[in-house]
Amino acid sequence: MKIKHRVAIVGGGLAGLRAAIAAYDGGVQDVAIISQLPPVRSHSVAAAGGINGSLANHPDGRDDNWEKHAFDTIKGSDYLADQDAAEVLAREAVPVIVETEHWGCPFSRNEDGTIAQRPFGGAGFPRTCYAADKTGHALLHTLYQQVVKRGIKVYTEHLVLTLAVADGRAVGAVVMDIVSGEVGTVEADALLFATGGAGKIYAHSTNNLLNTGLGMAIAYWAGVPLKDMEFIQFHPTGLWGTNILMTEGCRGEGGYLVNNQGERFMARYAPKAMELGPRDIVARSILTEILEGRGFNQGGPGGGYVHLDLRHLGEAKINERLPEVREICKNFAGIDPVYQPIPVQPSQHYTMGGISTDINGATVLKGLYAAGECACVSVHGANRLGGNSLLDTIVFGKLAGQHMARFVAEQPLQGSVDKLLEEKKAEVERRFRELFDNPGTERESALRVELQQNMFHNVGIFRQADTLEAGLAKVRELRERYRNVKVHHTGRIYNMELIRAYELRGMLDVAEAIAAGALARKESRGSHARRDYPERDDQNFLKHTLAFHTPEGVRLDYSPVTITRFQPQARKY
Ligand SMILES: Cc1cc2nc3c(=O)[nH]c(=O)nc-3n(C[C@H](O)[C@H](O)[C@H](O)COP(=O)(O)OP(=O)(O)OC[C@H]3O[C@@H](n4cnc5c(N)ncnc54)[C@H](O)[C@@H]3O)c2cc1C
Repeated sequence: MKIKHRVAIVGGGLAGLRAAIAAYDGGVQDVAIISQLPPVRSHSVAAAGGINGSLANHPDGRDDNWEKHAFDTIKGSDYLADQDAAEVLAREAVPVIVETEHWGCPFSRNEDGTIAQRPFGGAGFPRTCYAADKTGHALLHTLYQQVVKRGIKVYTEHLVLTLAVADGRAVGAVVMDIVSGEVGTVEADALLFATGGAGKIYAHSTNNLLNTGLGMAIAYWAGVPLKDMEFIQFHPTGLWGTNILMTEGCRGEGGYLVNNQGERFMARYAPKAMELGPRDIVARSILTEILEGRGFNQGGPGGGYVHLDLRHLGEAKINERLPEVREICKNFAGIDPVYQPIPVQPSQHYTMGGISTDINGATVLKGLYAAGECACVSVHGANRLGGNSLLDTIVFGKLAGQHMARFVAEQPLQGSVDKLLEEKKAEVERRFRELFDNPGTERESALRVELQQNMFHNVGIFRQADTLEAGLAKVRELRERYRNVKVHHTGRIYNMELIRAYELRGMLDVAEAIAAGALARKESRGSHARRDYPERDDQNFLKHTLAFHTPEGVRLDYSPVTITRFQPQARKY
């Protein structure tokens, strides 16, 4: 299998689709999307609550504008976002949302026909546009229609395994057709990774099984730094026992969080914003309630939880605005939120860090771009606001695609890279043989579970030096044990054991970057809450962490944060 296109987009979620459309519209007709999944099954489809843009359509949001959106994003990020990037995110929000509307995205509507908006956490105004609680589904199908309309080639169930780099430029990749197991090569003048988050490095995640961070690992192995990896978002309201997301839209529509005393406990932690505080604060508040004995099921199997109460919203509103939440609760918890409160607990949700890029999605490796959750531009800093990720995928997917179109026009690949691609392919085949022939007794599935539990318990919501050290040591122990992983199933057709074993190597390296970055950051900022360093320390840590891969393991460095107009202040809600 030899795939050759001018632009290769790895990933068929929102960021990948938007980038492919932009590259095509920018004049490169030879664009292809290579995706492990059929695009419309990408994780973007699960996004529920909405996408932010200062359209000012809500009666309480008439004074909203892009500057206020940028400010909320920067304050939400605990001042770690690069402010020039956050300004681009907020400024471009309205045009990209209107563009998807014109492409037919079925947004929920106000009486006057304008796009409906709901309040979301950490936002000064109701600015989250939504399609009931199925916004990702609506956006993904809208963009996929545009991809089909343009005749952009899509390779589904193709997994990219490694990059090929010639003279400091990404020129291609090695890919596996998951269906047949055939390994082949991709040649391209430019590649973009839009491979999604790394949530599955953690236990208790809202993410799907495929969010292993393999794309991040591949870029990292190729010398591109991962930025701000220690910032992991825990969503306040995962459905207890399943960690299926109960969208922030529940609180946006007026849902309450209640402890075992019947108190709306957010009054203690964010007296003004209450349930609509930013996610880092609400998640910590719920965990504090549980740790201090005010949760339900204290000490019971599955851990404690608090109640998300929607009953006062009434059946009609729940059916109109939160139909999927009702359906999920009935199917997965056997409860009906119209009549019963929902048991919720914080769950890993989002990777704020990722492949370090500039505003155009370009990485330090010429020819390699990244966008969406796998990338760190950075706009989310230490804590992402709900509704800003869908926006990030579309805004920066589009900008990256446009930049790629210009890049490949100006700097097409010269000469043949066939020999290099064949060598990289042989390397992957060798790795597969090592996994099949390994005399060791370790199972990838067991190591993966140990890794996930370790990250959740030692590098989780509350952190401190001793647990972080233990967490990092465990990751390194697992990496040693990984040398003894044997893949037992030797067939090639849909060999998920082989794929999982290959991914695990990347998960371990990405986990090391997360744990090492967290240990080195001796302050509390956004989602990174250290009990031993409870204050934010701008003097020493108003800087991005950069993790570089070396044969010995991770090497950390730092880079400055771009401040344009908002000087860091105390963050109160
Ligand atoms: C349950 C849930 C609800 C959410 N709700 C919201 C919300 O309401 N609002 C909001 O702003 N954000 C929300 N988010 C976050 C947001 O949905 C995601 O951050 C965003 O959709 C990620 O899009 P993406 O294009 O970067 O990646 P994804 O949609 O995850 O797509 C990744 C793509 O990469 C492909 N891929 C991965 N690795 C490889 C590889 N090695 N080779 C080939 N292909 C590969 C996959 O097949 C997939 O097509 C939610 C997240 C979750 C988990």
